[in-house]
Amino acid sequence: MTAAVPRTRVAGTIAELRAVVDERRAGGASVALVPTMGALHEGHLALVARARELADVVIVSIFVNPLQFGPGEDLDRYPRTLDADLAALDGLGVAAVFAPTVAEMYPGGAASTRVVAGEVGSLYEGASRPGHFDGMLTVVAKLFHIVRPDVACFGQKDAQQVFLVNRMVRDLDFPLAIEVVPTVREADGLALSSRNRFLSADDRRAALALSEALRAAEAAGPQGVEEVLAEADAAFGAHEAVQPDYLVVVDPATFLPVEPGATGEAVVLVAARVGSTRLIDNARIRLG
Ligand code: AMP
Repeated sequence: MTAAVPRTRVAGTIAELRAVVDERRAGGASVALVPTMGALHEGHLALVARARELADVVIVSIFVNPLQFGPGEDLDRYPRTLDADLAALDGLGVAAVFAPTVAEMYPGGAASTRVVAGEVGSLYEGASRPGHFDGMLTVVAKLFHIVRPDVACFGQKDAQQVFLVNRMVRDLDFPLAIEVVPTVREADGLALSSRNRFLSADDRRAALALSEALRAAEAAGPQGVEEVLAEADAAFGAHEAVQPDYLVVVDPATFLPVEPGATGEAVVLVAARVGSTRLIDNARIRLG
């Protein structure tokens, strides 16, 4: 006879989640938060593993946040796989999964108070998805208040998100540390994403354009930003099924595009539609 498999505890309300966290904190435990929208993959699990290293108690939130989806985006088709997510987290030492309803998170409905992401929030992802980063920062701020973690883990996969979360933490004096975890990729380079499941076999091959463009950018780094953009663009444009959205080289300190002739650390951001699915990726490179 096999022993019953322990299921990860699920808190559906803010009160339940706070009860779990408060009890553990009263015993002196430190707390790490891993915010997600679910449909968990190895990238998310890498965040959980890092959180386990950094704190005694790990809370994973699973919430598809309507505030960060624009009209006509994929809110309705975004995968919701709570049972599979709980199974994936089983045995990973997660104290509780916070999986609230939309009404629990936004009792005031769409008229709720928002965090404003500012100038960088309207560039790149923010230009293609107006309001996305205000919605993202709003839910992250709420999660920080609900969980009150010592540390929160985010993926480098969403580089602009990490930049904006770090800036919100500094600007609004949230008392926690932000930990950034490297992007987890498939063996051929494709960054893991909950949206990859929507790619047909042909789209899946074409989706390599993103990571190939980043590799080309990295190789061209020593020749400067113009060469980086030219090489990455050529790799990016090589697949017919790919409609590029943006390709930009930014300064990691400001997240604004680097000037011609810039040297040192930079981040290349790419986004494209592959079939019906929008994908993003990024890489740190060295210029000059
Ligand atoms: P999401 O559920 O897609 O909103 O992502 C939740 C968190 O997981 C975010 O901090 C993402 O940056 C992170 N994440 C998503 N994909 C990856 C990946 N391939 N590698 C590392 N972290 C990731």
